[in-house]
Amino acid sequence: IPGNTPEFALMREQMLIGGQWVDADGGSTLTVENPATGDILGTVPDAGSGETRRAIEAAAQAFVSWRAKTAAERATLLHKLADLLLANQDELGRILTAEQGKPLAEAKGEIGASASYVRWFAEEARRLYGDTIPSPWPDRRILVTKEPVGVVAAITPWNFPSSMLSRKIGAALAAGCTVVCKPSELTPFSGLAWGVLAEMAGIPAGVINIVTGDAKSIGGEMTANPLVKKVTFTGSTAVGKLLMKQSAETMKKVSLELGGNAPFLVFDDADLDKAVEGAIASKYRNAGQTCVCANRFYVQAGIYDAFVEKFAAASRSLKVGDGMDEGVEQGPLIEEKAVAKVERLLQDAVKKGARVVTGGKRHPLGGSFFEPTVIADATPGMAFAREEIFGPMAPVFKFETEAEAVRLANATEYGLACYFYTRDLGRAFRVAEGLEYGQVGINAGVITTEVAPFGGVKESGVGREGSKYGCDDYLNIKYVCIGGL
Ligand code: ADP
Repeated sequence: IPGNTPEFALMREQMLIGGQWVDADGGSTLTVENPATGDILGTVPDAGSGETRRAIEAAAQAFVSWRAKTAAERATLLHKLADLLLANQDELGRILTAEQGKPLAEAKGEIGASASYVRWFAEEARRLYGDTIPSPWPDRRILVTKEPVGVVAAITPWNFPSSMLSRKIGAALAAGCTVVCKPSELTPFSGLAWGVLAEMAGIPAGVINIVTGDAKSIGGEMTANPLVKKVTFTGSTAVGKLLMKQSAETMKKVSLELGGNAPFLVFDDADLDKAVEGAIASKYRNAGQTCVCANRFYVQAGIYDAFVEKFAAASRSLKVGDGMDEGVEQGPLIEEKAVAKVERLLQDAVKKGARVVTGGKRHPLGGSFFEPTVIADATPGMAFAREEIFGPMAPVFKFETEAEAVRLANATEYGLACYFYTRDLGRAFRVAEGLEYGQVGINAGVITTEVAPFGGVKESGVGREGSKYGCDDYLNIKYVCIGGL
């Protein structure tokens, strides 16, 4: 981009604090690259704790009047925000693809999902009911109300730079909270665009603040500052644990959406074509870079060979390229580090006897492109049995019995999403109940929707996003006892 002029009307190279677009205090910046081309897309402020503190103070100030608005007023503004997301879906999708790499159709789909979350929470804003509880005392009444927790700090990753914010901003604003967001330094422009849209929607200054820069100092301030009442984070388990520890000091509420290691089980009685279709959708969405992407495929011995063959053929036919190009189904990985990880896991597996059925190397396009890869004869000793691959590689393990499949599927410290294919109704219930996961897809490979609770168990995190539960983590419950009647 000549002269570093933003190519997009909704792209900002400054941060939003208390209604002002500002640079970092020292004026320093971070460079953002397009992973498909290596071109520099622009720069964002390289801010730290000072700017973050001011953003938190702005959010605290805005909270006073935001919480006092009626639910209907907040809902109206959220509906406007959702309308604007849809009205600008094409451009927002292009910004997303330019900084993140996913195919444009997926990027536009993500913006659509963002609008759906915001719309959902606009509707939920009006239904944050309390209770009246039958009183044990004849002269007293018991009332339970919900109140916004206050200022929320939101830290989001690069793999869904728009929709991860929608679940947090939507829920927070619906509940009456104000937010300070920190998008990933790899994909900040989709995050900063929320600030532009918020202004266009007429959301008051300070309700949504967005800071970019040094993750450690921004996260440090967010977790230490007593004005912040809740930290909501989507990202790696390591950083999630750190934020939880840091938040303990001031006893903040935390919601953490962390890593996964999703198993995908295919039983002998499954519809093979449907299972392959689901496997492709679950594995290669966002080039395998989602926390709910199938990480380990377990296929029953009777259909193992047939599944591997069809899955490999379908993987081989995926069109890899720059996400901006028509018909591309898999873009580049986010950065070189991500490719190096896939290569390391692949080499480890091959050394231990795995068979590369298709793919297995960097794509001829170069950069951070990697071939869709299917690995057969995977065994539990291989590193990808425990580690999240986060790339377009599918290891396929063989199993004999249902009990063995469930045991293998659960043999991980993660518990986010899992999938299985069967046509046996009894097995569907047994296996769904046996799997230690927050989300289960039966005969379905992609199950995320704003109406259902997204979240994990075990080390995949705490809390749920979306659904009728999605505002819970942004609300405090207050019990009011009315005596002397
Ligand atoms: P990923 O593997 O998805 O990049 P990370 O957990 O590293 O996962 O990143 C997710 C988000 O967490 C990003 O916005 C990143 O900048 C932020 N992050 C990374 N380290 C820290 C930290 N120490 N404190 C706060 N945020 C952090």
